[in-house]
Amino acid sequence: MTGIPNIMLNNGQRIPQFGFGVFLIPPDETEAAVSRALEAGYRHFDTAEMYGNEAEVGSAISKSGLSRSEIFVTTKLGNGAHRPDDARQAFDGSLKALGFDYVDLFLIHWPLPARYEGDFVATWKTLEEFYRDGRSRSIGVSNFQPHHLRRLHQESEITPAVNQIEVHPYLTQDDVRGFCAEHQIAVEAWSPLGRGTVLGDPTIADIAGRYGKTPAQVVLRWHIERGDIVFPKSVTPARIRENIDIFDFELSGEDVESISALNRNERTGPDPDKFDMI
Ligand code: NAD
Repeated sequence: MTGIPNIMLNNGQRIPQFGFGVFLIPPDETEAAVSRALEAGYRHFDTAEMYGNEAEVGSAISKSGLSRSEIFVTTKLGNGAHRPDDARQAFDGSLKALGFDYVDLFLIHWPLPARYEGDFVATWKTLEEFYRDGRSRSIGVSNFQPHHLRRLHQESEITPAVNQIEVHPYLTQDDVRGFCAEHQIAVEAWSPLGRGTVLGDPTIADIAGRYGKTPAQVVLRWHIERGDIVFPKSVTPARIRENIDIFDFELSGEDVESISALNRNERTGPDPDKFDMI
């Protein structure tokens, strides 16, 4: 048993706090990577239409022999499909690619404030349809700033269950996380290892040495202690096992604080207020 905690979302659904991300895993390597992760005990997978590997994620899960209800699967709307009719088609396409009749979580990938006349609210209302008809057990957003979330709050009915944003020790996102906590929106931390950039940090190396753990394990544990949901990516079998082996220790409050103090407001990915790529 891995002892992965579940987090209760604002609609009563549960999500494993730890999972596996498949961004930048080429389609021809994805089925093998997901199968390895399943063998290592991962039960939560994060993909997206944009990653081009939904079909391979779905087939690894289907071939695993595990029941669909034991696995939590998230996918995301492509940036080119924000208009309601396109979003409906894209959602059907994602279900078809995955080979499932529902997803656990469907997200708007980016708010794209400079596209679609800035109207991500119409897109959100379309996701509400997928929630109401049961084909997406939960719906949420990704890369939304507080001012984007405020608009959804004022102009739509359902509060996003999650906001998936870039978070790691060099980008602690205290303002967005604070806003989400106030509004019962769970935070998912993407690039939890800062794509590897934080792993050579001397403070993290020192803490890792004291706990007899690796820098990656300490950083992932830091996210868990802060309450965020994480899904690190790796195709390397030893790292896939290493990353999930974090449920047999806890960091002290002081060590959590020293890692949080490494914040430099440094993104590895795009700024959501500016990003407009389709
Ligand atoms: P990550 O922080 O998980 O880093 C992954 C990289 O770190 C790997 O390529 C590998 O080089 C290295 N790594 C992994 N485990 C390691 C270990 N134990 N020791 C040393 N190095 C290790 O970055 P990510 O893949 O960008 O983020 C994770 C997931 O978040 C993605 O796969 C995707 O599902 C999601 N994501 C979402 C968005 C979004 O816009 N919503 C953007 C980026 C990523």
